[in-house]
Parts: sequence; C-alpha cells; structure tokens
Amino acid sequence: MKDRVALVTGGSRGIGRAIAIELGKAGAKVAVCYNQNEALAAKVIAEITDNGGTAKAFKADVSKGEELNALFKSVKESFGPVEILVNNAGIIRQCPIALLSEQEWDEVVDTNLKGTFSCTRLAVRDMMRAKWGRIIIISSDAGRLGEAMGSHYAASKAGAIGFAKSAARELAPYNITVNAVTPGYIETDMTAGADEAIRKKQLDAIPARKIGAPQDVAWLVAFLAGETGRYITGQTISVDGGLFM
Ligand code: NDP
Repeated sequence: MKDRVALVTGGSRGIGRAIAIELGKAGAKVAVCYNQNEALAAKVIAEITDNGGTAKAFKADVSKGEELNALFKSVKESFGPVEILVNNAGIIRQCPIALLSEQEWDEVVDTNLKGTFSCTRLAVRDMMRAKWGRIIIISSDAGRLGEAMGSHYAASKAGAIGFAKSAARELAPYNITVNAVTPGYIETDMTAGADEAIRKKQLDAIPARKIGAPQDVAWLVAFLAGETGRYITGQTISVDGGLFM
C-alpha cells in the first residue's frame, strides 16, 4: 500500500493506534483522527515518522457531520483523497435498557454507527472516481452476540455490520472492498476498567483463554487494506481467540 492515503478514526489510542502504526509501517500516508487526546495522537505520529513513515494528526468528532467535512477537506489538502478508510472510533457505555435514556442511546449510536456512515459517505466519491478503495469497519463481537447492559453498543455494532455488507454490495463494481472486523476482548482503555470478576468471566468464555492485543486487530486490518485483501469483501471477521465461533 505504498503511498496510499489512509484515514484511521480514533487513531490516538488502543486498536486505532496499532492500526495507524501498522499502516504507516506498510508505507501508507496515515491521517490519524482523534477526538480529545491531541498529545497521544502526536505520539502516534512521532512513532510513525520516526520509523520513516508519513503521518499527520487531525482533530474531529465523528458524530458531528460538519467536523467530518472539515476533516476530509484537510486530509485531502495534506495527502490527497482518502483511499483506505478505517472506521475505528468508538465508545462503549453500560446501562440496563429500563434506565437507558434517549440521550445515552444517541451518544453511542451517533458515534459508532452514524460516524461510520458519515465517514464512509465522505470517502466513497473519490474512491469511486479512482476505481480503488478499501473500507474497514471496526465493529465488535457484541454486534453478533448481543450484550446485556450494552444494548445501545451492541445495536450500533450490529448496525455497522449491516452497513458494511450493504456498502460492499453497492461498491464492489467500483473495485472498493468493504469489510467489518469484529474484535472480542482486546486490552485497551475501553476494557481496562473491568473488575476482576468480570475479567475472569470474559476470559473463561474465550477458547484461547487470553485477551487479545491491539496488534492482533491491526495485522488483519493491514491485510485487508493491502493488495492482499483485493478479493475479500462483505465479510465479518472476528479477532477474538475463538469467542464468537
Ligand atoms: P479506546 O477507548 O482505547 O479508544 C477509542 C478511540 O476512539 C480513541 O482514539 C478516541 O479518541 C476515539 N474516539 C472516541 N470517540 C470519538 C469521537 N466521537 N470522534 C472521534 N474519535 C473518537 O477504544 P478501543 O481501541 O478499545 O476501541 C476501538 C474500536 O474497537 C471501537 O470502535 C470499539 O468499539 C471496538 N472494539 C473494541 C474492543 C475491545 O475489547 N477493546 C472489542 C470490540 C470492538 P480520543 O483519544 O481523542 O478520545
């Protein structure tokens, strides 16, 4: 993917950080989108550029359409049109359905699902013109298994899978692949807060009996983003030590 332009949303931390670094290693020019953590995004940029890669940080909240218009305009000015889009930015919240407010529902769905749609919409025109594109959506096993206390999260992630399949069908004639990657439990800030009892329960459910690393997801994303992924589209692929099978 030498000199391809890649945009990774939520690239400042966790899984997105590992993906940005992996794509940078593979030679892509990486636009790292963050929401709040400018300092961490700067560290990711330094890690890529110190290894001879090209990268730049961009601030945008993926749930806000106007910020995304500005993001895509800035990325195009800096690097050119986005060719590889990794919709990774996401948030998780826990709340039983009976107590879940519309506002909390909207916050999760607007970030995880609407953000994915909005970024994809802004990326596809240039990809269609170029007759080349890769779109990778970081969904979750929760979208396939459901999640008690996380119905809004699971619904947003299931929606992202439906969106990925629809986009894959629609965009395949333009040589654009669209795939959903569904991690299980990956060691990041998102999972760090869980108490020991919950952690043990999670571990017991994983056939591999270990929690994954962001790098495990990044390797698959790099495979899908490169020429290696050219005949793979519309798939939902878990990186989860066997949790979903
Ligand atoms: P982290 O909480 O570690 O990082 C989240 C990233 O998303 C940060 O870079 C954050 O930016 C960014 N982000 C959050 N909200 C927004 C927003 N509104 N606009 C732009 N960027 C935003 O999460 P993970 O790395 O664990 O998760 C990455 C993706 O993988 C998510 O979509 C998550 O749902 C999914 N996933 C994770 C699993 C896990 O076990 N960790 C399992 C299954 C799926 P900033 O640093 O600026 O706040």
